[in-house]
Formats: sequence, structure tokens, C-alpha cells
Amino acid sequence: MGARILDGKVVAEAVKGEVASLVSELPYQPGLATVLVGDDPASHTYVRGKRRDAAQVGIASIHHELSDATNQHDLEELIDGLNSDESIDGILVQLPLPPGLDSERIVERIDPSKDVDGLHPYNLGLLVLDRPGLRPCTPGGIMRILDHYGIAISGARAVIVGRSFLVGRPLALMLASRGVDATVSMAHSRTTELASVTREADILVAAVGSPGLITADHIKEGAVVVDVGINRTDAGVVGDVDYEAVSAIAGAITPVPGGVGLMTRAMLLANTVAAAKARRS
Ligand code: NAP
Repeated sequence: MGARILDGKVVAEAVKGEVASLVSELPYQPGLATVLVGDDPASHTYVRGKRRDAAQVGIASIHHELSDATNQHDLEELIDGLNSDESIDGILVQLPLPPGLDSERIVERIDPSKDVDGLHPYNLGLLVLDRPGLRPCTPGGIMRILDHYGIAISGARAVIVGRSFLVGRPLALMLASRGVDATVSMAHSRTTELASVTREADILVAAVGSPGLITADHIKEGAVVVDVGINRTDAGVVGDVDYEAVSAIAGAITPVPGGVGLMTRAMLLANTVAAAKARRS
């Protein structure tokens, strides 16, 4: 029997429905500022999608598009202006920034209460402390998919392949947090005998950026497999997981496209409305 499909479209629509309903009850319209620097086509596509999503749920999106000749000082000034603009609840600076711009300093410049990507060191610190705060969108979206489909996490062994600050590390903290209670391992490029580590997993998350890295040989029968990878190949966009082979063994799996990517977008909206409520209450 094939694996159950954990459908990001269904869950993202549920999140968007919740956000739209929350927004409709607010006496003001939350505002999301999107900042796009340069002409990277993938970044343009992502930001267009995020702005379309915002419009769908009633969030105002205020777009700033800058040339790749923009310098650090000008970008920081723009962020300062957005920080002090009361109509803006969330600031999204689309990464990666063109060479010559220091993304770490830009992210740190954002007011943590408007950091709807959840990547400011302050918000990542709250995550380490297991205190409420704005959480990074991709790991937040993965947690939401698992929750939506009633995946048992407490006591489960979770293995995350990839240790980036964007996905792997924050997700490890979320899965291991009190009340969620997975036992988590994080694998990376120096992990030896990767397949023997991943075969321990009840929940396996692949966040590497290597098409087809995870094969049937890496999977314990019945495992839940979450594919975060977005790899543009001649055959189109594919994940890090060999979908056909793995779905014959796994108990459940997220597709690419149609899985985690849609959740990342939906969680940005959830974070924006949460930021608006926290700031304006
Ligand atoms: P990243 O910063 O490049 O991190 C990749 C991680 O994979 C690193 O920790 C690296 O190990 C590890 N790795 C590389 N080769 C490996 C191997 N052969 N075996 C085991 N681990 C290996 O990437 P990222 O930003 O986390 O993104 C990962 C993927 O997810 C990309 O395809 C990206 O496009 C996608 N992504 C998707 C979404 C979404 O919404 N679906 C969001 C964000 C990212 P080291 O630390 O040792 O280098």
C-alpha cells in the first residue's frame, strides 16, 4: 500500500481560512511589508506568491522593490522606516540578498516584534528558551502539517537531515520542546552512515537541497517522511526524497511541490496576524 499523502495544499488552505477569519475580526487591517532586492527570478516568484496570499486573507501588503545596486546603508534606512511605521506589522526581507549586502545585519535590524520570518536572533533565542515568540515559517509549517494529520510525535524518534538555521536547527528545537516531546537527531554533511541514522526515524525530515538524496534504503517501514527540499532540475521542481520509491515504504509523505513550500507561505500570514495582535493589543 502506498504512503498517505500529507497534502500541504489542504493544510495551507486551513491556515489561510483561520487567518482570514482572525483578520476579519480585527478593527484594523494588518500590514505586511515585503522587501525585494535585485532580480533573482525565484525570489520574484516567491514574493509575488506571498503578496497574493496576503491579499486573499485581507492583509495589506506594501511592496518595496530595490535594484541590486542598493547598498547596505540604504537598505538599513528602509528597514528603520518600516520599523517605525505603525501601519506595518510584519517585515519580510526576501533572502538571499545580492552579493555585497550583509543579510545577517539586515535581519538583525528588523524590529523583533515585526520579524514575521522568525529569523531574528531574539526570536530564535525565545525558541531556544521554549518561550512564545514568532517562529520561523518553514519549521512552523512542518509542525502544523504533522499536527493537522494527527501524527504522533511524543516519544517518537525524529531525524532531521540538514542543520541550517532556516530549517533544521529550529525544527529540531520545536520537535524536542516540552509538550511535543520527540527524541531528535540532526544529521548533516559530516554524518557517517546516513542511512543507518535515518532508518531509526519514525519521523524523517529531509532539508538538504540535494535531489533524490533520500532513497528507499534510508527509510524505516511506515515512517512519516517530510520533504523540505526544493530543487530545480530539468525534470521540474523536485524534493530531496526519491518520492516514488520512498512512498512505497513510508507510512506518510509530503509531496514536492504541494507540501512544505505551501505551508511556509501560509505560516508567514499566521505570523503576520500574530505580530499584529501582539503589537497592537
Ligand atoms: P542549507 O543552508 O544549504 O543547508 C543544507 C544542510 O544539508 C546543511 O546542514 C548540510 O550540512 C546538509 N547536507 C548537505 N549535503 C548533505 C548530505 N550529503 N548528507 C547529509 N546532509 C547534507 O539549506 P536550507 O536553507 O536548509 O535548505 C535546504 C533545502 O530546503 C533546499 O532545497 C531549500 O531550497 C529547501 N527549502 C525549502 C523551503 C520550503 O518552504 N519548502 C524553505 C527553506 C528551504 P552541513 O551543515 O554540514 O553543510
